Amino acid sequence: MADLDKQRIVESVPQRGFFGHPKGLFTLFFTEFWERFSYYGMRAILVYYMYYELSQGGLGMEESTALAIMSIYGSLVYMSGIIGGWLADRIFGASKAVFYGGLFIMLGHITLAIPGSISLFFVSMVLIVLGTGLLKPNVSSIVGELYSEHDDRRDAGFSIFYMGINLGAFIAPLIVGTVGMKYNFHLGFSIAAVGMLAGLIIFVYTRKNNLGLAGSVVASPLSPAERKKVFLSIGIGIVVLAVIVAITIPLGLLTFKSFILLVGILGILIPTIYFIVMFRSPRTTGVERSRLIAYIPLFIAAIMFWAIQEQGATILASYADKRTQLDFAGIHISPAWFQSLNPLFIITLAPLFAWLWMKLGQRQPTIPKKFALGLLFAGLSFLVILLPAYFGGEHSLVNPLWLVLSYFIVVLGELCLSPVGLSATTKLAPAAFSAQTMSLWFLSNAAAQAINAQIARFYSPATEMVYFGVIGGAAILLSILLFSFSGKIQGYMKGIT
Ligand code: GLU
Ligand code: ASP
Repeated sequence: MADLDKQRIVESVPQRGFFGHPKGLFTLFFTEFWERFSYYGMRAILVYYMYYELSQGGLGMEESTALAIMSIYGSLVYMSGIIGGWLADRIFGASKAVFYGGLFIMLGHITLAIPGSISLFFVSMVLIVLGTGLLKPNVSSIVGELYSEHDDRRDAGFSIFYMGINLGAFIAPLIVGTVGMKYNFHLGFSIAAVGMLAGLIIFVYTRKNNLGLAGSVVASPLSPAERKKVFLSIGIGIVVLAVIVAITIPLGLLTFKSFILLVGILGILIPTIYFIVMFRSPRTTGVERSRLIAYIPLFIAAIMFWAIQEQGATILASYADKRTQLDFAGIHISPAWFQSLNPLFIITLAPLFAWLWMKLGQRQPTIPKKFALGLLFAGLSFLVILLPAYFGGEHSLVNPLWLVLSYFIVVLGELCLSPVGLSATTKLAPAAFSAQTMSLWFLSNAAAQAINAQIARFYSPATEMVYFGVIGGAAILLSILLFSFSGKIQGYMKGIT
């Protein structure tokens, strides 16, 4: 986006009105709060909805299939951010993308709210994947547009926004989870739909006054000639895809198994292509090439980190349901409530970490070291959760505090890696690709969940010790490796700290 545009946008946004921040932050905070409420609320019960028996209101799928679908779903949700980011950047602007995204998401949850067949379930998946791809990267990039380049409230603004994400993620399992598990899954999904509706209403009714021009400028619109070419390729792409599907399904080639594999391949292939294109682009300078090299090990570490963090909603959700004592200290715990732990710890510990980094000032760990720390904690969180089986075998029910501890430890890592990750991406990705940095960062999560979909089948109570041990151990090894090369990586970062 041209500097003049950026300046014009900032001038159009009321610069105060939300805790000393631009008024637009109110709109974006609550839109994302409700979107995450609907997303994490839905995910807190979806896995149980899939593998619970028909008699319990579920779909009666095999558990390992349900776990793999959760991961594929999560992967596609973040993968589609590339499409959403691109559409906003080149065709209709971020604000429209957020609006249509919210609409698709809401329709997706409404579809889930209708009791019915498995096909409705897949329709809702498509809607939510496309909707989140449109909404998630764009709502965050509008946050960036509210502040001028040198505004020192910028980082604080992103931290407030991050709180909004986690507040939504925290209350959702308590509300959607409780209703979904206690009364009826579909009622739970309809609350998720109402949440997204609330987000949409806030967005639509407050954007005029609060956002000014933010989100409405198409950063690099397609020229008419490009338009023709792009629409033609999209058209051909859709036809080719339809033909492939029409041929492979009847031939029995497009099975669930091959689809998991396909997502796995895409999860790795897409970021790889991204890196190659950025690296070889004539618009990328020599210094930027060096920074890209530094970014690769960080990106790989992020994949490993998210692979463990996201299993908190799949493998550990199953662990909460089947391996954990749910009648504890006089109350009956819903397994869905465990999903509130991660965001709860994020909300409570984020200020502490912010204070710690500030206090340490120049002495705080470098970006590669923070990533290594993130991985270390992620690995430890898995080693901790193998202990109950080690001490008590895989048949007796486990004290829920073990799970609480595991979620706690992973959050220590998340706070080292996640908030730094996005800003590191912004600083290390070549300037010519700046519109895509948000989607690029989400690709680390997409790749992680694509891998999770492949490995979910190796988990069962009988194999859990090996499962948690191998993955946790691999994360710790990678962390040590990253730590030992951190000086070298820092060198490649050419002055970025
Ligand atoms: N849990 C965070 C969110 O939903 C992080 C996602 C990511 O950065 O990959 O926004
Ligand atoms: N901590 C995650 C994120 O930052 C939320 C979650 O996993 O529930 O949004």
